[in-house]
Amino acid sequence: MSVELNSLRMRAERDNRHISGAERLVSLEDLGTVAVDMLQRALQHPCGQAERIYFYVEPIKCEQLLSGCLPDFFNNQVTHWQQGRELAKEMLLAAGVSATAIAAAIRNLADGAAPGGVSMRGAMLIDSKTGERLEPDQARGVRVSRMDLSAGVRAQLRSLLAAQKLDNPHVVEALTLAAKVLAAPGVVAELCWSDDPDYTAGYVATADKRYQRISLLKPAGEERGGRAFFVQCGKQRLAVLIDWLEHQPLMIERVGRIHPVRYWREES
Ligand code: AMP
Repeated sequence: MSVELNSLRMRAERDNRHISGAERLVSLEDLGTVAVDMLQRALQHPCGQAERIYFYVEPIKCEQLLSGCLPDFFNNQVTHWQQGRELAKEMLLAAGVSATAIAAAIRNLADGAAPGGVSMRGAMLIDSKTGERLEPDQARGVRVSRMDLSAGVRAQLRSLLAAQKLDNPHVVEALTLAAKVLAAPGVVAELCWSDDPDYTAGYVATADKRYQRISLLKPAGEERGGRAFFVQCGKQRLAVLIDWLEHQPLMIERVGRIHPVRYWREES
């Protein structure tokens, strides 16, 4: 049984709060370089320098690895965050998420979805019809992990994004994560905006493999953010879904289409 790749995960804390995390699938040869990049990122985080940084390295067996594809990328430029949230609502409704579930997700992300009104370490799982929160731990949430882009896809994606001045780690990592979420059994859609106070964009990703970047989804300086995965599955399949999101290794080996930017005027 040959071992070809390692799952490398980093999580960083400050004041006993999660501030940063990262996950990659890397060869033994690249492990050091990628780990140093992650370390630097944790030390230069906009929420302050990390105080505790944890690294986890585990081998992935090649027969466990699945192959995936990136969703198509759409870039929506809005004029203010309230308009961005209206657009996100419309997209989620069109994807079959109920108005109740959308309102629950937005309320939780805006107020801080973890106990104490802070951001979670992972994502909420929200029933796409009832709006009920289904993740077993509302502070940790569900952390999607063990996914990466192949070297070819990473290079191709970065050059396509550069044409829209969007070749940055936020977009590349969010697309990678969304690709795994959309491939998971029972996921209808995802809504995300960052907890990084300087990064005000976010996205809606839907099961028809569309990733809709929205330029503004929160006010500048806001530290609360997070992810909501809208799901349609019974309690028994929930455990299977969580295990898949957290443990199934997935290498993304195909890029999606990159669509030109779309500008939304306030009246539209
Ligand atoms: P970021 O996009 O890194 O700014 O993260 C924004 C929020 O998304 C975090 O506060 C977490 O709640 C959530 N998040 C980040 N990484 C993951 C992950 N790998 N799996 C699930 N949720 C995540």
